[in-house]
Amino acid sequence: MFEAAWKEGLRFTCRQCSGCCSGSPGLVRLGEADILILTIGLGMNLESFAATYCRSVDTGGEPCLCLKEKPGYDCIFLDAGVCSVYEFRPTQCRTYPFWDEVVETENAWAREAKTCPGIGSGHLNKPEQIAESLQKQRKLRSFRWDGKAPGKEPI
Ligand code: SF4
Repeated sequence: MFEAAWKEGLRFTCRQCSGCCSGSPGLVRLGEADILILTIGLGMNLESFAATYCRSVDTGGEPCLCLKEKPGYDCIFLDAGVCSVYEFRPTQCRTYPFWDEVVETENAWAREAKTCPGIGSGHLNKPEQIAESLQKQRKLRSFRWDGKAPGKEPI
């Protein structure tokens, strides 16, 4: 990681262009907190939430719960180019672009900036904010979906 470059922070503000939520296949993983926040925010029980919006994806023998995509690969929550659950959006979306593979090297950061117009301008994110996002993203990636609700109710 090019942490040395973080001494002054990294600039990023989402331009809400929906470029990362549409147009090509992708995985939006959900963690325990994401499931809770989304079900509460949408006023749904876990069973109907999972059936309506989620799919279980095997990531090399490890199941994880991910959001469905619409035909054409738009995120299931993208509505006319706008995130319909922005207030409750998952950790993966909240922590972007402060993921290990994006901040690993200066080249990786520059490469990602070619696909995301929000990278490199706007809000100056402090090193401690970046580190916190990295921790959240790592925790999310270690979460394995066992088919049970955070409260351990099977679905
Ligand atoms: S591509 Fe970047 S600017 Fe566009 S919605 Fe995604 S994070 Fe925001």
